[in-house]
Amino acid sequence: MRTISILGATGSIGASTLDLIRRNRDAWRVVALTANGNAAELARLAREFGVEMAVVADETRLPELREALAGSGIAAAGGVEGLCAAAAAGADMTVAAIVGCAGLAPTMAAIEQGKTVALANKEALVSAGDVMMAAVERYGATLLPLDSEHNAIFQCLGANAPTDVRRITLTASGGPFRTWTQEQLDAATPAQAVKHPNWDMGAKISVDSATMFNKGLELIEAWHLFPVGLDRLSIVVHPQSVVHSLVEYRDGSSLAQLGPSDMRVPIASCLAWPQRMDTPMPSLDLAALAELTFFAPDEVRFPATRLAREAAQAGGAAPAVLNAANEIAVAAFLAGQIRFTRIAANVERVLAAGVPSAPSSLDDVLAIDHEARLRARALLEQA
Ligand code: NAD
Ligand code: MG
Repeated sequence: MRTISILGATGSIGASTLDLIRRNRDAWRVVALTANGNAAELARLAREFGVEMAVVADETRLPELREALAGSGIAAAGGVEGLCAAAAAGADMTVAAIVGCAGLAPTMAAIEQGKTVALANKEALVSAGDVMMAAVERYGATLLPLDSEHNAIFQCLGANAPTDVRRITLTASGGPFRTWTQEQLDAATPAQAVKHPNWDMGAKISVDSATMFNKGLELIEAWHLFPVGLDRLSIVVHPQSVVHSLVEYRDGSSLAQLGPSDMRVPIASCLAWPQRMDTPMPSLDLAALAELTFFAPDEVRFPATRLAREAAQAGGAAPAVLNAANEIAVAAFLAGQIRFTRIAANVERVLAAGVPSAPSSLDDVLAIDHEARLRARALLEQA
């Protein structure tokens, strides 16, 4: 039996992970679960899985969590310190599934345990970059990519040498607005943006998928996870989301990973790695799918992948600034404060206003993130 903690247990990835654990109760013991503010749901899950510790990030919800856990013997905690304590609770595997840079400090705390971290929280890696990868190295942690594209690449790489890789191609669904005109994009609403054609995900990543910032963040994520160099990473739009990414080798062979668009597949790949486990997914029916199509990304209507590539090229703090500016813009869009097309425009403006020097510690990254958020908010108010 292995132990596991889930940071972001009440979210979409958290729910998919717990679904797999529920089907394999003999294989896993859940140590700690965390949520942002939904104390009732967190307490329900904590009781169901008999965890040791439940944590709400929003400390104002801690009394509610304590009350909901009364008599259960489950420890309750709150705030970033609580999240980091959950991450450091000593589980064999920690699933990092908080959304945004808010998950960075707990993810680093999990890495410092020197055990296995299954990473969904791409914003944490985009922001911290080399700081996170250096910690993985220093503490001897195993970082398993849970994001479907990166998990696909990880599987396709197998034991091959990175020097044998000619190119890695990330597939992108193109999101709900793939075929929309610039005028339609200007008028896109939050409700339309969160309705992804293939995947059922949290609101933030759904908007990122609509703007293509998701693929931009994933490009930076892949750049850190798979050290083949930025010029060997490419993106292709594939609306069916069946091919989850490809690795092309120098002999001309391309290996791809295919599967249903259900995150339980890459999550299962992480949970069972280096073995395999059952999932409730039906077999892929290629004849029923009939057609798989691929398109070059349109960086005029969707500038996000260009901005992300430029931020990676600039290096240093630029990816953290890009991420912070995007988080602020997405929140403003979801709150009805800005148009859809202002998201990328605002990120570009924040980056153009200047980027601080490269971070060398977690505190540096958090300070860069904080400053970039202030600047992004100030720019939003000006326009
Ligand atoms: P979600 O919004 O459904 O869930 C987010 C989780 O994080 C929830 O448990 C929430 O309570 C918690 N949370 C939110 N804000 C927090 C804060 N400030 N502090 C602490 N906890 C907080 O999001 P999701 O779709 O599950 O995505 C989670 C992460 O996984 C994101 O980084 C996303 O990019 C990545 N990811 C998601 C999918 C997917 O299919 N949903 C696929 C690949 C990668
Ligand atoms: Mg992905």
